[in-house]
Amino acid sequence: MILRKAKGIQIDCYKQMSKESPLHEHLNPQFVYIPLIQQTTALKRTVEVGDDILIGQVVALREGFGAMPIHASVSGKVSAIKKVWHCSGKMVDAIEIKNDLLQRMDDSIQPEADTTHFTREELIEKMKQAGLSGLGGAGFPTYVKYQTKLPIDVVIINAVECEPYLTCDYMLINAYPEKLLKGLHYFMRAANANRGVVTFKSYNTHVKEVLQPLLVNYPGIELKEIKDIYPAGWEKYVVQQVTGKTYEGLPAEAGVIVDNSATAMVYADVVEKNIPLISRVITITGEGVKNPRNYYVPFGTPVKELIQLSGGYTEGLDPAKAWYIAGGPMTGRAILIDDLIVSDTLGAVIVKPMPEDKTHPECLGCGKCADVCPVFLTPTEIKRAYETKDVELIKKLNAQKCMACGLCSYVCPSHIEITDFVGKAKDLLRKGA
Ligand code: SF4
Ligand code: SF4
Repeated sequence: MILRKAKGIQIDCYKQMSKESPLHEHLNPQFVYIPLIQQTTALKRTVEVGDDILIGQVVALREGFGAMPIHASVSGKVSAIKKVWHCSGKMVDAIEIKNDLLQRMDDSIQPEADTTHFTREELIEKMKQAGLSGLGGAGFPTYVKYQTKLPIDVVIINAVECEPYLTCDYMLINAYPEKLLKGLHYFMRAANANRGVVTFKSYNTHVKEVLQPLLVNYPGIELKEIKDIYPAGWEKYVVQQVTGKTYEGLPAEAGVIVDNSATAMVYADVVEKNIPLISRVITITGEGVKNPRNYYVPFGTPVKELIQLSGGYTEGLDPAKAWYIAGGPMTGRAILIDDLIVSDTLGAVIVKPMPEDKTHPECLGCGKCADVCPVFLTPTEIKRAYETKDVELIKKLNAQKCMACGLCSYVCPSHIEITDFVGKAKDLLRKGA
């Protein structure tokens, strides 16, 4: 595919809010809730109410495509199976574990004395058994990418973190820079690739400062600054910036595998300590919380607890009338309550006063949405085709290429949520209705 040069734009940045405070650990919530869903796949529960649970114990299985185990993030007892709000915007069943606060570990969590002997196959199997999935928002099972039969020249770590409020990747790299390079080193071995590249936005000079001195111990790994535009973290854009190549479907077609920086850091612990994917860093931020900051937490931690740890809501903000954005404002999802739980695909919760409805009923025909679209779509035409349920036209207009970056809504002077219409058109196309 010939990818015309995506322009991208500069958008307002609110990262400073949550960068001021150091990374906080909150390792012992009273209860965690392990959702019985991974991406959109329902999980099979393997434990019962009353079971004793250890950290790292398998509590559920993903079956079929991307099959892998899901592990407990705290030790204690299964106290209930409950419905909880998931960042997908749905209520889902979850395993409630009452934390005994003893941090008892499953026997499988053991340090490896030597990691040099692992074969490519063993390294990929480790990803699978650890339930490793992408922490950048997609939640895609990592091992599936590494099972490619295509030759891989380069593994790229995407630490671009484009969303304007998120700092979870940035804070984690600053706290544990060497872990990122170790994770990338193991990814390169799992891909048989000689080259590894960490990409980051040009203004994040601190990332360069902490990583550069360590590179001497990691041959084949280099750093690459990416322009400060949105959506520079888009996978296709990152691959093009690093390799000059484009692709139609998956980066492996261009000899590339791309992973998020937090995923690489978890993988270092998977290989060296056999710790499965059970925790992550989440940014709690926005004008609606007193002390925005980042938390390192076990999966299943209630977001409400993290808002309280952040000093609670700002004066005068009624939590029932606040707006909670799961993910970032560009690509995330607005959720009306704070009863969410932390999961692999939830990198941030942004709390804001409910915005005034400024939507102007009329499209002004200004064309700004088409001007900024990185994949050169015409969102207004797609919206019209959706409204008339013209599936053939939706297809012709290439709606399936939309990567939900949110730019068209961001620039619209009438505040039309045009991204949602394009998303609905894509759904219609998928259903073939
Ligand atoms: S959300 Fe989709 S249609 Fe809108 S600008 Fe991004 S890629 Fe284009
Ligand atoms: S940016 Fe908004 S007003 Fe302008 S053409 Fe697109 S939908 Fe219409």
